[in-house]
Formats: sequence, structure tokens, C-alpha cells
Amino acid sequence: QVKKGSRNGYQFYSQTLVVDVQPQLKIEAQLLGALERGEFQLHYQPLIELKSGRIHSLECLLRWVSPVLGAVSPATFIPLAEERGLIVELGSWVLRQAAEHVSTWRDAGHTQLCVSVNISPVQFEQPDFVALVESILGEYHLPGQALLLELTEGSLIKDLAASNVKLAQLRARGIRIGLDDFGTGFSSLSYLRQLQVDILKIDRSFISAMEGEGSAFVQMIVQLAQHLGLTTVAEGIETHSQRVVLTALNCEIGQGYLFCRPQPADAIPFLLRSHQHVRVPEPVGS
Ligand code: C2E
Ligand code: MG
Ligand code: MG
Ligand code: MG
Repeated sequence: QVKKGSRNGYQFYSQTLVVDVQPQLKIEAQLLGALERGEFQLHYQPLIELKSGRIHSLECLLRWVSPVLGAVSPATFIPLAEERGLIVELGSWVLRQAAEHVSTWRDAGHTQLCVSVNISPVQFEQPDFVALVESILGEYHLPGQALLLELTEGSLIKDLAASNVKLAQLRARGIRIGLDDFGTGFSSLSYLRQLQVDILKIDRSFISAMEGEGSAFVQMIVQLAQHLGLTTVAEGIETHSQRVVLTALNCEIGQGYLFCRPQPADAIPFLLRSHQHVRVPEPVGS
């Protein structure tokens, strides 16, 4: 009886382990060949100028639909790709693919269009990162103004001096730099002055907490940014009242489901032509 009990116990325990460990391994196994199998796609979400309702730029968001696993969130596979050393190749593919898209759309008449690409810290750390970006711009005959690179504070402050050298090289080519998820790091305020960036993207957590005293944080960030000559973008705007408050606080640009969800690349020409999917309600009382 004791034997039987312990055996059951063991089986139960091992089953639990299998359940916990397998998905991660399964995802890793599928991720390894996913790029060669053509399983990645880029989607784009517009950033909207809050006052005019015009499209400021398009953020490029990587999508993976595995035939085995289904759709996997970038929040899951990006960290895995970073750990397994796949992010450099994947990130280069994203940059090149985004450059191809924006050059097609600029050629079709949207001559000032800019795409914003998320850059992993691992990618940014590569010694040849700036050279890679320059060579991709060259391949597609794009000016630097066609590209905005989104980096997080964490990836920039690891080696502030080295980061600023790279940022200066990129910005000298006309490429703009955005600080993504601003406010979620620990050292934001002290480092902000020393980082050569153009745009602050206020993290969605601040926007969703904006009702009540939460708006004081957003107000402070916007004022600080203005003081430093930076443009502010509010991430994750979902409600009309958030848009109204952000406009009143002089936040210049907004992004979120209220305006538009991320769309596959082939939906973008239509979006750019018609703005039909971009619902930009007027602020109350104006
Ligand atoms: P992020 O750069 O902060 O991108 C914004 C995320 O918020 C996107 O999630 C977007 O779909 C989502 N979002 C936009 N508007 C709303 C809204 O109104 N409400 C809510 N709840 N969410 C909204 P997504 O596409 O799942 O990407 C998650 C993160 O994965 C990104 O956060 C970025 O850090 C990373 N990521 C995505 N694509 C790439 C890529 O090509 N390279 C790298 N290195 N990271 C990427
Ligand atoms: Mg981003
Ligand atoms: Mg962001
Ligand atoms: Mg974010």
C-alpha cells in the first residue's frame, strides 16, 4: 500500500513537472527554425498626432504564427529569442522587412512616412549595429527620416557613453530615437538628461492609471519632456476620456486601440489612403 501510494505520488509529481516545462521547450524548439520557415510577419499600428488626427508614424510589431503552436505573443518569444541568441538575426530581418515596407509606401506617394522599429538591447549592443542600419537604409534608398528606433532605457544605460556614441551616429543620419516604455525603469529621471533621444513613449501603465491622481505623473512626464525638447507619445490609449486628458496636458502623439489596432502590412496602404480605420473623435467641447 505504501509502495502504491508513493508511486502515485511520484507519477503525480512528474506529470506536474511535464506540464510546467513542456510549453517553454516546445516554444523554443519551434522558434529555432521559424524564421527560415517564413512564420514571422510584421504588423503596424499608427501613432496619431493628437491635435490634428494625422498619422505621425507607424510602429512595426512582430507577429509569429506557428503552425504547431498558433499565435505566440512577442512578450513570450522575444525574451526567448534573446536568450537563445536568435534575436540578432530576427531583429535584422525585422529592420530589413520594415525598410522594404516603408520604401514601398513612400514610393506610392506617402513620401514623408516613417516607421518605428523596436530594437532589442542585445541587437543594439552589437558592434556593427549602426553599420547594419546604414546599410539597410542604403539598400532601400531611404533617408534616415524614414526610420525611428525604439529602445528602452535599460538597454541604453548599461553603457551610457557607448550608447550615446551610437545614438549620435544614428541621429546624424536623420534617424530619430524613441525611449520606449518610459517610466517603468528605476533611473528614468536621472538618466534622461544624459540620453540623446528625440521621443519619449509614456508606458501604457501610466495611461491606464490616469483616472484621478494618476494623471499627475503623466503631466509631470510631459512637462519634463517639453523642458528637454522631447516629443511625448502616450501608449495604449483605449478611451475617449484618456485622449481628452492627454490632449489637454499637451501630449503630442497617441497610440492605442481607440485609434487603431495593429494591422497586417497589406492593410496599410488602405489605412494611409483613407484613414477609414482611424477613428479620431474630437475632444469634448471643442
Ligand atoms: P511595445 O513596443 O511597448 O509595443 C506596444 C504594445 O502595446 C504592442 O504589443 C501593441 O499591440 C500594444 N498595444 C497598442 N495599443 C494598445 C492598447 O490600446 N491597449 C493595449 N492593451 N495594448 C496596446 P505587442 O505587439 O504584443 O508587443 C509587445 C512588446 O513586444 C512590444 O512592446 C515590444 O517591446 C516587443 N516587440 C514587438 N515587436 C518587436 C520587434 O520587432 N523587436 C523587438 N525587439 N521587440 C518587439
Ligand atoms: Mg515599442
Ligand atoms: Mg512601448
Ligand atoms: Mg509598452
